[in-house]
Amino acid sequence: MKKPFVTLAQLQEIVKDYPTPFHLYDEKGIRENARALYQAFSWNPGFKEYFAVKATPNPQILRLLHEEGCGVDCSSLTELMMSDRCGFKGGEIMFSSNDTPAEEFVLADRLGATINLDDITHIDFLQKTIGHIPKKISCRYNPGGTFTLGESKEGFQVMDNPGDAKYGLTRPQMTEAFQRLRELGAEEFGIHAFLASNTLSNEYYPALAAILFRTAVELKEETGAHITFINLSGGVGVPYRPEQPANDIAVIGEGVRRAYEEILVPAGMEDVSICTELGRFMLAPYGHLVTKVLHQKHIHKEYVGVDACAANLMRPAIYGAYHHITVMGREDAPRDRKYDVTGSLCENSDKFAVDRMLPEIHIGDLLVIHDTGAHGHAMGYQYNGRLRSAEILLQEDGSARLIRRAETPEDYFATAIWD
Ligand SMILES: *Cc1c(COP(=O)(O)O)cnc(C)c1O
Repeated sequence: MKKPFVTLAQLQEIVKDYPTPFHLYDEKGIRENARALYQAFSWNPGFKEYFAVKATPNPQILRLLHEEGCGVDCSSLTELMMSDRCGFKGGEIMFSSNDTPAEEFVLADRLGATINLDDITHIDFLQKTIGHIPKKISCRYNPGGTFTLGESKEGFQVMDNPGDAKYGLTRPQMTEAFQRLRELGAEEFGIHAFLASNTLSNEYYPALAAILFRTAVELKEETGAHITFINLSGGVGVPYRPEQPANDIAVIGEGVRRAYEEILVPAGMEDVSICTELGRFMLAPYGHLVTKVLHQKHIHKEYVGVDACAANLMRPAIYGAYHHITVMGREDAPRDRKYDVTGSLCENSDKFAVDRMLPEIHIGDLLVIHDTGAHGHAMGYQYNGRLRSAEILLQEDGSARLIRRAETPEDYFATAIWD
C-alpha cells in the first residue's frame, strides 16, 4: 500500500491558500532519505552525492539538499547558473553534459566545477575553448553491448542497452583519453558511467561499481593516471507500483563497499572517493501532484477529469509510466471502480491512469498522484496554453511554504512579439 505523506485535513488547509494543481514536496522525507544515503556510504570518507538538478530544479530543494551535504550534477548552462546562485561552490558541482556548447564549458570552468567529458573529441574542444585542461577531470565510460542483472524465468531484473546510448567513450578511447589528458596537464582523474535507468535491484550499483573499479585498475596500469574518484551517476530507481519492492540503500552501499575491498584495495587504490548523481532516488517518492476532480464523464468508458494535465506531469503520457493515485479521504476504501483519469489537453494520451481500479470518485475530490518529486514539474511544458503549476514544500513542522509560484498568462505571453 502506498500512503501519501500528507493527510486530507492538511491538504484542505493548503488548498485554501494555493489552488490546485500543485506539486507538493516532503521536506522530512527528503532529509531522512539523504541521511540514509550518506550513512550507507559512510565507509568511504570522500563520498559525495551530486544531486541531478534536472530531476527537480528548484532552488529551495537544492538548498535543502546542500544542507544535507549534497553537491549538484549539472548538464546545462542554466543548471550551472542556478547552482551558482544557490551557493554551491566549485568542488560541489559536477558537470556531466553531452553535446556540450562551448559557453557551458566556459562557465563550468569559471565556477570550478568538475568537468566530466562525454567524448574523446571534447578534450581538444575543451582545451581550445578554455585554453587549458583542468587539473581534475573525469571521463564518461560506455562499455557498449547490453547490461543485464539477475536473470530468472520472468526475464532480467535489470536490462538496458549501453550499446545504443549516445553517451560516453569506448574502452580503447578511455585509455587514449587518459594518456592525452595527462600530457595536457591533468593530475586527478575520475571515471563515470550510467548503464541503466530506474533500476529496482540492490545489485545495480555494486555491479556497476565492480565494472568501473576494474576499469580504473586497468587504466591506472596502462596510463599511470592517478584516479581519485569514481562516479556511479544515477539510475537507482523507486517503486512506482505499490507491489514493487523498494531498493535498500544500506544494502546497496554495503555491496559497493565489498567490490571496493575486493578490487581497489588490493590494487593500492584505497584513496578513491565514490560519487553518485542520483535524481529520482533522492526526490521522486517525496513529491505528490495534488489535483482536484472537475468532471465525470460516462461514455464508452468511465472518465474522471482533473485540473492537472500532462503539462504538469508528462511521464504517463510519453512513457505510459505508472503513477499510483490515492483518492484523499478514501485511502482505505475498496478499489472497486474502474476509471481513466484524464487531463484537459487535446491529446488522447493525456491520461494519468487508464483502466485503473480506484474507490468511487466524486466531483471536488482531491487526488494525490504519487512519486512525482523527480522528472515531474521539471518536465512541465505549456502545450495548449496550460501553464506550469506551483511547487510547495511541506515543511518538517507541518506548515506549507510556496517554493515556486504558478505561471500566469502574463508569463506565457511574455516571450511573444505582439506588434
Ligand atoms: C539524469 C541523470 C542522472 C540522474 O538520473 P536518475 O535516474 O534520476 O537518478 C545522473 N547523471 C546524469 C549524467 C544524468 O543525465
